Amino acid sequence: MPRPIFAEIDLHALRHNLNVMRSKAEGRTLWAVVKANAYGHGLENAVTAFADADGLATIDLCDAELARRCRWQKRILLLEGFFDASDIERLESLKVETVIHSFWQIDLLRKAGVKDVRCHIKVNSGMNRLGFLPVEVNAVYDELTSIPGVRVMDVVTHFANAEPTYFGDRPATVEKQLARMGRLARGGAAACMANSAAILFHPEVGGEAVRAGVALYGVSPDSHISSEELGIIPAMTLAAKIIAIQEIPAGEAVGYGSRWIAKRHSRIAVVACGYADGYPRSMPDGSPVWVEGQIAPLTGSVSMDMLEIDITDIPAAQLGSRVELWGRHLPVNRVAACCGTIGYELICALARRVPIVLREDA
Ligand SMILES: *Cc1c(COP(=O)(O)O)cnc(C)c1O
Repeated sequence: MPRPIFAEIDLHALRHNLNVMRSKAEGRTLWAVVKANAYGHGLENAVTAFADADGLATIDLCDAELARRCRWQKRILLLEGFFDASDIERLESLKVETVIHSFWQIDLLRKAGVKDVRCHIKVNSGMNRLGFLPVEVNAVYDELTSIPGVRVMDVVTHFANAEPTYFGDRPATVEKQLARMGRLARGGAAACMANSAAILFHPEVGGEAVRAGVALYGVSPDSHISSEELGIIPAMTLAAKIIAIQEIPAGEAVGYGSRWIAKRHSRIAVVACGYADGYPRSMPDGSPVWVEGQIAPLTGSVSMDMLEIDITDIPAAQLGSRVELWGRHLPVNRVAACCGTIGYELICALARRVPIVLREDA
């Protein structure tokens, strides 16, 4: 028997979310972003579920290799481009398109002597992470197109603040970043700009292509807006079973460091999920866990392989009860907020040791 913990991946939800984002994309080319093992959902599962996407976008050539082995024949894009001269040959043989964000990449391309490499020019429109300044784009375009075998597909940029939560006047609002893109000298170039948040919340962001990530997995890009409001369905549910129950009198403590101390006679359930499974150790007492249709509070610090919850008020919770750490009944963003992070981080950090169970029903 495997440990009683599993991540349920709902292929129907992935397909549904793709359709939602497809309709929001309004006819634009839709890249499905599958980096970080498809945000923890398994790259192979994403390749299956996102068959209708126009292409897959990732950051790792190994992902491209795996996708090709899974018979993905459509486009693949490397969002950070290649990292080393030795990548260029694999890029060509796998027919992978690449972002070009730095001059050193152009030098390597020129030296490599390529036959057919499709490039996307990354523009730094205000995030100041990757990309050329708008004033450099003309020169970059000319340099790239002067290299035999190199084709420039479009210009790409990424927004720093496309979520409604990021309100107010910031140095890189969508409006300001768009304005910088609008000033590109070669104004007619095709553009790929929107991530999930921009697709959902900024219809004014145009372009010929979009890159949808987190929303495809049913997680809202903004913790203050629910998946239901966006019409998307959480595709990952992390669940584990109750493997022991402790009845303890008031004054007894639970777990390492005796952080949580019972104020009353308590029924404490031990759940087969720990930080080595991807459930953060930084979760505080009281964090919500779903069991038998109710929310039970986390009690005590999360151990490597187990955590404890207070089920005193949930008589239906018994040995073997299924406990949901996040997913269908408990938004991952709500769980993430308890330890000061975002849903993205939790789903991406799902540990390899957690068995994946595929679910297909509508
Ligand atoms: C991760 C990523 C995306 C997808 O972002 P989401 O917020 O998950 O939709 C899009 N573009 C780039 C460059 C990325 O790195």
